[in-house]
Amino acid sequence: MTRKNSKWDLSPAPEGTGHISLKEHYGVFINGEFQTPDHGNRFQSINPATGEVLAEITESSSQEVEQAVAAARAAYDGEWSKMGGRERGKYLYRLARMVQERSREFAVIESLDGGKPIRESRDVDVPLAAAHLFYYAGWADKLNYAFPNRIPRAIGVAGQVIPWNFPLLMAAWKIAPALATGNTVVLKPAETTSLTALKLAELIQEAGFPPGVVNIVTGHGDVGAAIVNHEDVDKVAFTGSTEVGKLIQKSIAGTNKRCTLELGGKAANIVFDDAAIDQAVEGIVNGIYFNQGHVCCAGSRLFVQESIHDELIEKLKHRMGTLIVGDPLDKNTDVGAINSQQQLSTIEQYIEVGKQEGAEFYQTDCDLPSDGFWCRPTLFTDVAQSNRIAQEEIFGPVLAVQTFRTVAEVIKKANNTPYGLSAGVWTDKGSKIFNMTSQMKAGVVWANTYNLFDPTSPFGGFKESGFGREGGLHGLSAYLDF
Ligand code: NAP
Ligand code: MG
Repeated sequence: MTRKNSKWDLSPAPEGTGHISLKEHYGVFINGEFQTPDHGNRFQSINPATGEVLAEITESSSQEVEQAVAAARAAYDGEWSKMGGRERGKYLYRLARMVQERSREFAVIESLDGGKPIRESRDVDVPLAAAHLFYYAGWADKLNYAFPNRIPRAIGVAGQVIPWNFPLLMAAWKIAPALATGNTVVLKPAETTSLTALKLAELIQEAGFPPGVVNIVTGHGDVGAAIVNHEDVDKVAFTGSTEVGKLIQKSIAGTNKRCTLELGGKAANIVFDDAAIDQAVEGIVNGIYFNQGHVCCAGSRLFVQESIHDELIEKLKHRMGTLIVGDPLDKNTDVGAINSQQQLSTIEQYIEVGKQEGAEFYQTDCDLPSDGFWCRPTLFTDVAQSNRIAQEEIFGPVLAVQTFRTVAEVIKKANNTPYGLSAGVWTDKGSKIFNMTSQMKAGVVWANTYNLFDPTSPFGGFKESGFGREGGLHGLSAYLDF
């Protein structure tokens, strides 16, 4: 069978699955062991590209959450908090190397379970996850140098809850700095994408971490709530929607818990008339269509300087027509499957809203597979600032385009959002970049590039995109008391 986009036909180039092994059923990982639950509550993790069931996952009971927190506490009070940084670092280095060694397996499972193209999971998610583990392993024995003239101390038990868009990477973002600083962890992955976190648990077991240092419990939102509200959890680290972030903040208000929240976004990607247009088009596509727009920092609002609007949109439509939507395991695929039926319905509702609000709608005419959850790359032009598609996070491959004439105008429009996670600026002038970066209310501003990450660089939001930073030294300090 050939794969058709509107420009050419390609033969399939699927990544093999022969090298991966998945259990039929996963118990929760507590105290260094996969537990066999004493109840039959399970849910299925499916491949969103086909609907096929990949494995059954345990819906953790409140008792299992209790056991996980108790194991993390015992590990903290026992060996882990007393171990020297150098020893802790060795465990993390070992884990980082094992993730690298098993990178093909992780990449394939990530794409099978979450729907993202293998190119993304292979080239972005897994290498960045390993890089995070290496980076924080390196800090474990250097905390006194990281924070001179202060005495850094671990906080205790960290309760960590993560979303489905970068499952392994978010697990690494959470676990690596927590362990490097001497904390212990109870982590809950998102219910649609638990498999790579459970695979990571297998490696944690193999690496010989002391039991209880990392515990992974699976399940839905109420399991996450039970973790963050547990009285013996000292630090909450959450990545997910602003809605749930607000709930968490309310529920732990008045407690002694430390908290960092990495929440939603509605990033402005701004193209000036002096930008290299083809490069900008590539950055726009990378920012919103790759990974199906399932990116918290997706460049979902495009601001184009009026004089180049028509030329840029024509080039963008042409490039959209070359995108290959389909099998996430195919190495040629640009846009994979939408993560779940629920997320697809949300995206489709927003597309309807955009049409009703009067914006001009455009979609490519590529073929879509018959099973699974899919959305064609979607473009709305003539969008008004007040339109919901320009204000609310869609979390799908849907771009809302507006125009501007002056720097002052675009700064005002770009900042006119409750979010402030990230932004992009495309221009030939360094001075314009610095002017923009100093005035944009966004945690990250990329210049003449988009969606680039590095473990040494702090990441996090302004306003309703959350508080606290992950990555770099900032990410370490979030797990330390001084
Ligand atoms: P979500 O619905 O907020 O869920 C995130 C995690 O929280 C999941 O594990 C979820 O469990 C759990 N959860 C749900 N209700 C909870 C509660 N009351 N208490 C504790 N935990 C609870 O977000 P999502 O739909 O998975 O992910 C998409 C969102 O994440 C987007 O808004 C995106 O912008 C944001 N995000 C932000 C960043 C960042 O760094 N700022 C990075 C990635 C994603 P289940 O879903 O399993 O039920
Ligand atoms: Mg799945």
